Amino acid sequence: MGKTFSEKVFSNKAGREVSAGEIVTLEPDCILSHDNTAAILKKLPEIGATKLKYPERTVVVLDHVTPAADSTHAANHKAIRQFVADQGIKSFYDIGRGVCHQVMVEEHYAYPGRLILGSDSHTTTAGAVGAFAAGIGRTETAGVWVTGELWLKCPETLRIKLNGSLRDCAAAKDVALTIIGSIGADGALYRAVEFACDAEKPFSIADRMVLCNMAAEMGAKNGYFPPDGIVADYLGESAARFAHMHSDADAQYAEELSFNLADVEPVIAAPHTVDNVHPARELAGNRIDQALIGTCTNGRIEDLRSAAAVLAGRSVAERVRLLVFPASAKVYRQALEEGLVRTLLDAGAVWMNPGCGPCLGAHEGVLAQGEACISTANRNFRGRMGHPDSEIYLASPATVAASAVAGEIASPEEYF
Ligand code: SF4
Repeated sequence: MGKTFSEKVFSNKAGREVSAGEIVTLEPDCILSHDNTAAILKKLPEIGATKLKYPERTVVVLDHVTPAADSTHAANHKAIRQFVADQGIKSFYDIGRGVCHQVMVEEHYAYPGRLILGSDSHTTTAGAVGAFAAGIGRTETAGVWVTGELWLKCPETLRIKLNGSLRDCAAAKDVALTIIGSIGADGALYRAVEFACDAEKPFSIADRMVLCNMAAEMGAKNGYFPPDGIVADYLGESAARFAHMHSDADAQYAEELSFNLADVEPVIAAPHTVDNVHPARELAGNRIDQALIGTCTNGRIEDLRSAAAVLAGRSVAERVRLLVFPASAKVYRQALEEGLVRTLLDAGAVWMNPGCGPCLGAHEGVLAQGEACISTANRNFRGRMGHPDSEIYLASPATVAASAVAGEIASPEEYF
């Protein structure tokens, strides 16, 4: 019987045949942490450890509350800088480089067949370029730092086939939300989600990152797109370093689902759960106070282009604030070169530094009681972006931009 991608990665790393459901101890190729490195490093004395086993496999990115919002975060950042210096961690990215999941892909830590673990749920994003990438807890991360290994259960696989082509007004975010609205926020619990699209109409790396990022919101262990020529082109020279790893044609999937992309319309996850998904046109007219474009889900150049297509020559409604957070410095620079910074600025947007921004409700645009925000992020549970009595709507960059112009929830359909 053939093997799934997950079974192949696990077998490869274990040095023996591994099937879905088996628990094995594996050494990840890469271990990611962000600002929570400060909390994780405090666990080392608790477990009687002082040194990391593989500092060369450790990646640390400061992105969550950057620049430091207060003296507590400043102290944490200071402790992290000292820690990476003491441990000899070369793969350290200080404030301003970008959101960790974007950095992992841009800096080519992620590539096909790699086993990547990270102390953040959206580590799954790296599956866009064919890695097996999963989020783990802080204590587990401390354990991997010290021992270099972790036990993992090889997940069974949910295969999601994406047929046909998207309409111009719909985006990968609409696809992800449509899937989540259909299967629920726990629809892929501890499963690997393998996405498959028509070879003639392949998804871009950016689109794949959206879907693999949102796999975490389906409850998945990881999300994965089989690597193809688009991934090889993206990785360029470093493509030579990897062996393409694909599920076998006769692999055993736990479940297979199909979605017709032509049927996907602009949708929104309404407060307060990611699977509370409705067509954008049905929520049109709902009040918003803030609109946010960015985060590890939708802060890439393609997202900024999509927002700019709606905002060019228009203005953000008077009583609405539009915040823009490029996912990385590289994205920011490209937006500058393409004139997108000017376009969005002219429309009334506020450009912010690369990073997570208010996605986690800590700084740079948290919501007051009774306020509502439409955001390109991935989570909308109560209190996520600030006050527990605030509301978050999740949508694509085009829908967020259309809503910012309208001053209320709006569908982007009329702009395409
Ligand atoms: Fe987490 Fe939001 Fe940062 Fe993504 S952008 S890593 S979801 S806080």
